[in-house]
Amino acid sequence: MAKMGLEYEEKIKRAFIKAIDRSRLSYFKYCMRAGSCAYACHFWLVDPRHELVPGIKGKRVEDVFKKEFTILGKLKKRITGEPLITIEELKKWVELAYGYCSLCDRCMLACPYSVEFPPLTLYMRVVLHEAGLTPESVKKQVENEFTIDHPYGITKEDWLKIIDEIQSKFDEEIPVDKKGAKYLLIPGKRSLKDNIESFISTIEILLKANEDFTLSSDLWSGCMSTYDIGAWDEMAQLTRKRTQIIRNLEAKTIIMTNDACGYYGWRWLADKAIKERLGFGVIEISELLADYVKRKVIKLDKSKNDFVATYHDPCHLARKGGIVDEPRVAITASVKEHREMPHHGIYSICCTAGCLQVDEYQDTRVKAFKVKLDEILATKANVVITNCDECFYTFKRMFDEYNVKDIEIKSITEVFADAIS
Ligand code: SF4
Repeated sequence: MAKMGLEYEEKIKRAFIKAIDRSRLSYFKYCMRAGSCAYACHFWLVDPRHELVPGIKGKRVEDVFKKEFTILGKLKKRITGEPLITIEELKKWVELAYGYCSLCDRCMLACPYSVEFPPLTLYMRVVLHEAGLTPESVKKQVENEFTIDHPYGITKEDWLKIIDEIQSKFDEEIPVDKKGAKYLLIPGKRSLKDNIESFISTIEILLKANEDFTLSSDLWSGCMSTYDIGAWDEMAQLTRKRTQIIRNLEAKTIIMTNDACGYYGWRWLADKAIKERLGFGVIEISELLADYVKRKVIKLDKSKNDFVATYHDPCHLARKGGIVDEPRVAITASVKEHREMPHHGIYSICCTAGCLQVDEYQDTRVKAFKVKLDEILATKANVVITNCDECFYTFKRMFDEYNVKDIEIKSITEVFADAIS
């Protein structure tokens, strides 16, 4: 059993102190290891091993916590001389926290005591970040955010070219760096790389609605994956920097489009990360689309989307973010027929990404996707609609893996823009 140096152990201890908040200590007390959480987890459902039960993953965090932060645990540690945590255990955490958990929060709904297991997996990620053991593909995203301001390698030069290209598609002028606009539109972190159509269609809708909006030449990603990676100090730094850009533009509200974790992060975490009020509002694009439908701002023709669609709720939007009804209002007004999956809304099954592609664990994620695929097939829909380009990209990858040829994946903005009559 490999032991760690004292300095390393100190780092782990600090990470624990940073990650564990008092309100969540009760989880350790209330988890009865009943196992009902297992049936909510897509990873466990396809690979029902004891160590993959969410509550059992959480117990590993509890065991380390007790060693350092309880009197009995400290005493036992001193007598036995055992380390706070071994390297082998930390490596196991990498596998459990990244290979077998997408932080989808679904297990929490299944718990009779509402114990939140996902934060415990997230604590694992915080510790792994401090220990420098985060999977390389994920580390790279954080590095990119600091070096080029985009997790997937889109530079400022690329962004300015993209703006020019999009502008060439419209007669109306697309405002850039307009001060005091009602809305600042921020592209989804995955959109500029893997689904530019979703972003173009968002602009098309805003222009059609004569909306007072702008783009920023300095802000082309509102990515908040640093939170899910456990890189919380980095998240605070990036949020501070981006908040300043938004404030300088004096935008009243930011629109997050096709970016579930971006929306969740800005709406629910950003002010806590920088420890001050943002001073601007945060909305998700479907909130605006639903409003346009209700106020009849844009005329829609359902017959233009002559297919049967089902909607995938991104976990960071529905379960974590509270956006459930708005996408449905927009979709039912835009497509011929909309059918719900057996589990939808806050009970929706995760696409397996959890807003993060972890290249090192594609195999476990491909396997877990079977649960989602069965949900989709049950609807007999020919189009899956979603409003997160990380989910969009995951569906594309997974449909290839499962050789699904007859179901298309579309973004909510693409479908809405196509329905404009
Ligand atoms: S958060 Fe989701 S993926 Fe992680 S253990 Fe819970 S149900 Fe499984």
